[in-house]
Amino acid sequence: MNNDLHAYPVRAVKGVTPAKAKELEALSIGTVADLIEYYPFRYEDYHIRDLAAVKDGEKVTVQGKIYSEPVLQMYGRSKSRMTCKVYIDPLFISAVMFNRHFLKDRLHPGQDIVLTGKWDGRRLQLIVSETELPGGSSSQTGTLQPVYSITAALTQKWMRKTIQQGIVQFGALVTEVLPVPIVDKYGFMPRKQAVYRIHHPDDAAEGKQARRRLVYEELFFFQLKMHAFRALQRKRADGVAHEFDNEVVRQFVRGLPFKLTDSQKKVIGEILHDLKQPYCMNRLLQGDVGAGKTVVAAAALFATVRAGCQGALMVPTEILAEQHKKSLDKLFEPYGVQVGLLTGSATDRQRRETLAALHMGLIDVVVGTHALIQDDVLFRKLGLVVTDEQHRFGVNQRSVLRRKGMNPDVLTMTATPIPRTLAITAFGDLDVSTLRELPQGRKPIKTYALGHDKLDRVIAFIRREVLEGRQAYVICPLIEESEKLDVQNAIDVHVQMSHAFPDFRVGLLHGRMPTQEKDAVMNEFKEKRVQVLVSTTVIEVGVDVPNATVMVIYDAIRFGLSQLHQLRGRVGRGEHQSFCILIADPKNETAKERLRVMTETNDGFEIARRDLELRGPGDFFGTKQSGLPEFKLADLMSDFETMEQARDDSADLVADPGFWTSADMLPLREFLQREQILDGEQLD
Ligand code: ADP
Ligand code: MG
Repeated sequence: MNNDLHAYPVRAVKGVTPAKAKELEALSIGTVADLIEYYPFRYEDYHIRDLAAVKDGEKVTVQGKIYSEPVLQMYGRSKSRMTCKVYIDPLFISAVMFNRHFLKDRLHPGQDIVLTGKWDGRRLQLIVSETELPGGSSSQTGTLQPVYSITAALTQKWMRKTIQQGIVQFGALVTEVLPVPIVDKYGFMPRKQAVYRIHHPDDAAEGKQARRRLVYEELFFFQLKMHAFRALQRKRADGVAHEFDNEVVRQFVRGLPFKLTDSQKKVIGEILHDLKQPYCMNRLLQGDVGAGKTVVAAAALFATVRAGCQGALMVPTEILAEQHKKSLDKLFEPYGVQVGLLTGSATDRQRRETLAALHMGLIDVVVGTHALIQDDVLFRKLGLVVTDEQHRFGVNQRSVLRRKGMNPDVLTMTATPIPRTLAITAFGDLDVSTLRELPQGRKPIKTYALGHDKLDRVIAFIRREVLEGRQAYVICPLIEESEKLDVQNAIDVHVQMSHAFPDFRVGLLHGRMPTQEKDAVMNEFKEKRVQVLVSTTVIEVGVDVPNATVMVIYDAIRFGLSQLHQLRGRVGRGEHQSFCILIADPKNETAKERLRVMTETNDGFEIARRDLELRGPGDFFGTKQSGLPEFKLADLMSDFETMEQARDDSADLVADPGFWTSADMLPLREFLQREQILDGEQLD
């Protein structure tokens, strides 16, 4: 936060040699600011305590008098064990010291001593790790000492000393960065004090207070960036203000074959409101699998078309593109809205024709895969871009598509429910709409976890369901990072299933198949000509076959909870009771717990929350698409309330016109400029 401190390399601190500087660099400490903002993750407590109140196994510092001469046993040249009786009111204990024979001559009966170590109450023994004798130079007794995360080549002692030295030399340059009203509102320590005290608190409460302030600060600047970005986007007002009559959309909704859920109505309302505004909509629609997101997108696309613009719907797979094209055709047909399809498997001629029609405006809505974002795709007037199952798209792809229009509105849909904790972090720069409920009449899917040895029963069960007229998916074991092995697995399982069901048709679907073959299999499954579909996870997103009632997942523990939930969401889409069978032999408690979560709940938000608890935020999205910021001090789970405060405060700040002009706020605007959120000319 502080320019000046960032200008000094860490070498400027006394005691930091080039070799040490290199070690520090491995901890991302390059400047003095990095060094003194390298906060401890816990403290060692050297306060003297009453032994009577100490629990077995606890580490403790106690004070007493040596009672007997130490007894030393040497093991070889350097290893030793020394014991001596110490009186620690009201107990006589034995102090056990390993490899500290050099102390022998300094320990005499009658002498005062401070011992730190692990207490064994049953044997009245203290396994000593540190001693302090009268007149010793160190005086950590009675303090909390910071513990830093360090590399093997550094020691805690050196780190403590060096950070302390950094503060002595440069502490005066630490200045306040938070607005005064915020410091006052929460009764925060001034920054200088907080930076000092987090390294050297007088007591635990003070350490907490310092941390609280610094956590807030970290989260505040993070939130400020996102809110300022959003506010500027609105201020610029360079989006499309779609003009259409709400009644037209209402009519479209009345024409649907079902009644919308309250959630769907509310979310459509939010989107229509955004579409009419002159700024760019940037909205995330999250809803559990089967919540009915497609029809929400359809309503938004319909409004866009009625406002004289074109819409695009981008999806991650060709199967999904075709499926969406079909549903949109059905929904839009009565209104003469033209839907086009653009995927990688179109012939050159088809592609040329579609492109021409798009450019001339003969196609109102185009559905497609990443083929939509190639350079030769031009629109007449692109007004709305919807991306479905957004977690499959990189940010880049989305912005490329956006540039094709004149800042079209963007609606992003995901069925990976993001727990609230993560949503305000990962999507702080988006408005979020949520479909909370499923359409009525859905029967909850029954989920079971079985061992691989129960495969016979699973096969018998599939047989029964198929004989009742239903269909089944069998998802193959997942091999991380190797599509080739996934494919091999699918082929093996397909052979196995074909053998088990000689009287049924068993289909095979995997990512390496040519698109036409994939479509053919998928269509056969939809038309019930294939009863059992063996597939890799290509089936994961969006596919809608209501007659399928069984989802069998091999090696279920290899999948993330959210992915299992997605896969399970392929069934339970029709009137019949559906089942999900997780085949797994969990080896540890976490794996068992994950399966238990799946069998206990069908609620995607609950599953996401538990997934987050079990895996932590880093793993939640998978590293590739995490997009989550890394915080120095803040913890997304435990500091969630502070995150909410920081969010509200920064939202209020940027909503105040004074923020953009007043002299008080100049440091914050400079921060935004450094972060390239504000352009130079907007600063004054
Ligand atoms: P998802 O949110 O997973 O994309 P879809 O949009 O594919 O869900 O919808 C799942 C199914 O529910 C579709 O067959 C769709 O036609 C149907 N559906 C959507 N909304 C409703 C509703 N309000 N009432 C009944 N069925 C609905
Ligand atoms: Mg969907």
